Amino acid sequence: MTNPADLSLAALRDALKAKSVSSLEATDAYLSRIDAAGDLNAFVSVTADKARNMAKASDDKLGRGEGGALEGVPLGIKDLFCTEDVLTTAGSHILDGFHPKYESTVTSQLWRDGAVMLGKLNMDEFAMGSSNETSFYGPVINPWRAEGSDAKLSPGGSSGGSSASVSARLCAGATATDTGGSIRQPASLTATVGVKPTYGRVSRWGIVAFASSLDQAGPITRDVRDAAVMLKSMAGHDPKDSTSIDAPVPDYEAALGQSVKGLKIGVPKEYRLDGMPAEIETLWAQGIEWMKDAGCEIVDISLPLTKYALPVYYIVAPAEASSNLARYDGVKYGHRAKDYSDILSMYEETRAEGFGDEVKRRVLIGTYVLSAGYYDAYYLRAQKVRKRIFDELLEAYKSVDLILTPSAPSAAFALGDKMKDPVQMYLNDVFTVTANLAGLPGASVPAGLDKQGLPLGLQLLAKPFDEETMFKGMYALEQAAGFTATPETWWA
Ligand code: GLN
Repeated sequence: MTNPADLSLAALRDALKAKSVSSLEATDAYLSRIDAAGDLNAFVSVTADKARNMAKASDDKLGRGEGGALEGVPLGIKDLFCTEDVLTTAGSHILDGFHPKYESTVTSQLWRDGAVMLGKLNMDEFAMGSSNETSFYGPVINPWRAEGSDAKLSPGGSSGGSSASVSARLCAGATATDTGGSIRQPASLTATVGVKPTYGRVSRWGIVAFASSLDQAGPITRDVRDAAVMLKSMAGHDPKDSTSIDAPVPDYEAALGQSVKGLKIGVPKEYRLDGMPAEIETLWAQGIEWMKDAGCEIVDISLPLTKYALPVYYIVAPAEASSNLARYDGVKYGHRAKDYSDILSMYEETRAEGFGDEVKRRVLIGTYVLSAGYYDAYYLRAQKVRKRIFDELLEAYKSVDLILTPSAPSAAFALGDKMKDPVQMYLNDVFTVTANLAGLPGASVPAGLDKQGLPLGLQLLAKPFDEETMFKGMYALEQAAGFTATPETWWA
């Protein structure tokens, strides 16, 4: 019999409904894999007892012919989502011992639909990073290695625990979040599918805030169908999030396989970067051919403001982060310094001990760009450019349905490679941040391997709230790429 942990999320869902496997069997299969995969460091905590209890409850429901869309399916949860009474760290020392008294909207919807929680996934501290190396819990290791090498590679970030655990088949699917690329870039580096929905499609309530006007949650999964199934459960209006949109959530799975004939695919010339590996260019050209062969019309477009997206992001995101992170003061929850003389020094010592270097850098940048005298020159100007980037994209979408680009400017890189130079690290987000600034949906689909045998993804961007067309395009891309490679199981 096949190991239930080898089934895709959708296949497992169907097998559970058909009772050819039980949720407890699937859950135990995953738990033993997680147990053996300590070297990947993908989990901050494993909730084995909770998982088994949830699985048994699901098996009861399935036995009665009941259950939701994800009944009995074991998932990993990025440790940015608050989970009731379960340690939630955001990858930070400052949230030591934080057991939220409430459940995030996204996770509560997953449990409503019957999913099982395997545990909380490692991530960059407060989702700041592109390599998972800023985590207080240490880096996650990419299951993929370059051919003939055992050097440890980054699984991308900040959702590195999500990408690595899905890629290594340690869960059927994982939640993730994307503020500047943290779903799509790790997906690209691990041959998984990552979807960042339109801003407002998925509730942010109960997700530890990084940059509130950019943060959006979505799934990381093994294939496009799995992402469609998971997003349907995660999405929907939530009165507890004032930026959540009250619009019906389509059945994304139903969009898969629908014809893409006649769809107009925009190819922006500004995404051709100096110094980008030739293989990424080639794969992009290949992707264009695939879409053409599927009946799409290719339209060359120009997005001249693209070059401002990264600098604008690295003003807006730290500004919002500096404000959001003001709440970590050692008073209400999390870490509190032992040695202090008065309340002010308690705040200072707590924050000095509790935050890592990257978080401190963001708080410094953020308070600087918001300070009197610099506000107009940095924050206000960045907001104006942000609006123009949005306008430019909407203008482009008058003549195209989707935009096709590479997901990331490189394949998985070695741990330590970019940590010494923050700008090098920030450059990894060059293709992804635009969608966050404009609030548009974007996704990464595995498309090929580079000459070292490492995965590369292609990105599709869609019109606001048109995830359905994006899923149609993703599925066409997936079918054409026929990507089936998996990493060798060196860690177990
Ligand atoms: N790498 C980007 C950053 O460090 C994006 C992170 C994210 O999307 N959460 O800010």
